[in-house]
Amino acid sequence: MIEFMNLPFKENELEPFISEETIKFHYSKHHRAYVEKVNELIKGTEFDNMTLEDIILKTFEKPEFRTLYNNAGQVYNHNLYWHSMGVGAKFDDEMNARIVEDFGCKENLHKKLVEEALKVFGSGWVFLVENMDGKLEIMPMPNGETPLVKNCKPILTIDVWEHAYYIDYQNRRKDYAEGMITLLQL
Ligand code: MN
Repeated sequence: MIEFMNLPFKENELEPFISEETIKFHYSKHHRAYVEKVNELIKGTEFDNMTLEDIILKTFEKPEFRTLYNNAGQVYNHNLYWHSMGVGAKFDDEMNARIVEDFGCKENLHKKLVEEALKVFGSGWVFLVENMDGKLEIMPMPNGETPLVKNCKPILTIDVWEHAYYIDYQNRRKDYAEGMITLLQL
């Protein structure tokens, strides 16, 4: 069994950038459905006692486990997404120095996150990750893919599936992505 995490904030706390109505659909319906699907698929199987990360890594590129892989990836990404809110405020001096080293300045990181969020064609995610060389990197991923399978450590993410912003922004993904920069407290 994998866990349906509790939101680390109140449902109306991300307003005006993300409405309570969006959270009600996004967390209580979409995110919950991915968790329920994973639990339905792993019940009584070799995956039942594994961590979410192990399920993703062990089903990667295995066509017979495609549905489990996709749903587990979506659970992992949503867990990270909710925990990404306000994450920038928790960065220590070392992390802030690394951002300056790898992006030039914080504003460049903001700009690049928004640019990559706009470039994702269809549904997907944009991550800030630490890559295998220990460098910070922005990594867009399609659908329910995670940076785990690229041996990268995800630090934060922006969900760019339409269900993340359509109620509040309709087709204005750029406005949503800019709102996300504020919510990430980067
Ligand atoms: Mn989502």
